[in-house]
Amino acid sequence: MAQERAPDGDHEALILDSVRRFLERDVKPHVHRLEHDDVYPEEIVEKMKALGLFGATIAADYGGLGLSTTTYARIVELVSTVWMSLSGIFNSHLIMAAAVERFGTEEQKRRFLPRFAAGELRGGLALTEPDCGTDLQAIRTVARREGEHYRINGTKTWISNGIYGQCFALLVKTDPGAQPRHRGMSLFLAEKGPGFAVSRKLEKLGYKGIDSAELVFSDYLVPADRLIGGAEGGGLKHALGGLELGRINVAARGVGVAQAALDEAVRYSQIRHTFGKPICEHQAIALKLGEMATKVRAARLLVEDAARIYDRGERCDMEAGMAKLFATEAAIDCSLESMRIHGGYGYSKEFTVERLYRDAPLLVIGEGTNEMQRLIIARQLIQRNPV
Ligand SMILES: Cc1cc2nc3c(=O)[nH]c(=O)nc-3n(C[C@H](O)[C@H](O)[C@H](O)COP(=O)(O)OP(=O)(O)OC[C@H]3O[C@@H](n4cnc5c(N)ncnc54)[C@H](O)[C@@H]3O)c2cc1C
Repeated sequence: MAQERAPDGDHEALILDSVRRFLERDVKPHVHRLEHDDVYPEEIVEKMKALGLFGATIAADYGGLGLSTTTYARIVELVSTVWMSLSGIFNSHLIMAAAVERFGTEEQKRRFLPRFAAGELRGGLALTEPDCGTDLQAIRTVARREGEHYRINGTKTWISNGIYGQCFALLVKTDPGAQPRHRGMSLFLAEKGPGFAVSRKLEKLGYKGIDSAELVFSDYLVPADRLIGGAEGGGLKHALGGLELGRINVAARGVGVAQAALDEAVRYSQIRHTFGKPICEHQAIALKLGEMATKVRAARLLVEDAARIYDRGERCDMEAGMAKLFATEAAIDCSLESMRIHGGYGYSKEFTVERLYRDAPLLVIGEGTNEMQRLIIARQLIQRNPV
């Protein structure tokens, strides 16, 4: 469950305004080149640091902006209407920070959160392995206690920020034989050093610019005081606790991508003419626009609803799951429909809609696949309505 956060009021309007200005001035003119060359946007990252985005949800006591999830989700949506990849650079970083803030010791919070908030130490979440993603309790990375350290061996894959990040919330088994399996799992803060290697960069369909990597741990020694919370056995809870926030964020990305696809379609359908009139006046196209706009609005309302519940500190796995499921499917549907409205140009790399179409499918996979969201929603439905 989240800590209670009040809505941000006027402060929110100011922050959203500076994010809009940053996107217009520092991001929009460069997206096309950075995305097609698959280049990590270092200069933009520096500006994101200055804006405070790496500390957006970290409490002010630890140097962050202390924003509510509701405001944060709006930021993620705005960023994703311009370039979804950018949201990944601070999003998984903030999930790592949330795990420390919610479950870490005071010493860990004081040591790490101010550096996370400043963007001086950046990273993400290292959970997935080559043999398992959804079934996280099957991980094979093992940490064995040796005096004041743990010795870690194993491989993680698909880790966002894996190359340019320096610190990761690393999920391991501290007791591989434990039953139930989650009792043997722990989460560490692992900074790069001897024994911690990036073995390769992974090539992707979309979500370019942000680095996705495979990480290999070979006799990597981590000090025992980097075990989040200070006690073994809570790792799965600590990792999945942050994922509720992660789901709201992925849902907000879905709204951003769907909105961008709709905006492109609304614009293009007014300037493209066939049979003597703009294509938006053909009923077949108008029906698509109506459907897309409704999905975007419904998705946004679901995200706001889940974020408000999260901010009240209440359990929201069902609502976050619904928002994630609906908004990310909306992103897929809207990007495809927008591409169709663009005709042949939709298939061209010169048009934005082509990128939206390649970015959207990631959203149905990350932070728990949409198949799993349906199961989570159904499970909660039964639990909340026992006969
Ligand atoms: C670009 C990108 C970035 C990523 N970033 C990160 C990151 O930063 N950190 C990180 O740890 N991971 C990251 N991931 C990994 C991502 O979280 C996993 O890919 C995701 O959790 C799914 O796991 P999997 O790929 O192993 O699929 P699997 O778990 O093998 O699932 C395969 C299929 O089976 C379905 N399935 C599995 N179990 C069930 C079930 N019980 N019931 C019904 N259906 C089921 C799934 O829904 C899916 O359709 C990233 C992935 C990508 C592509």
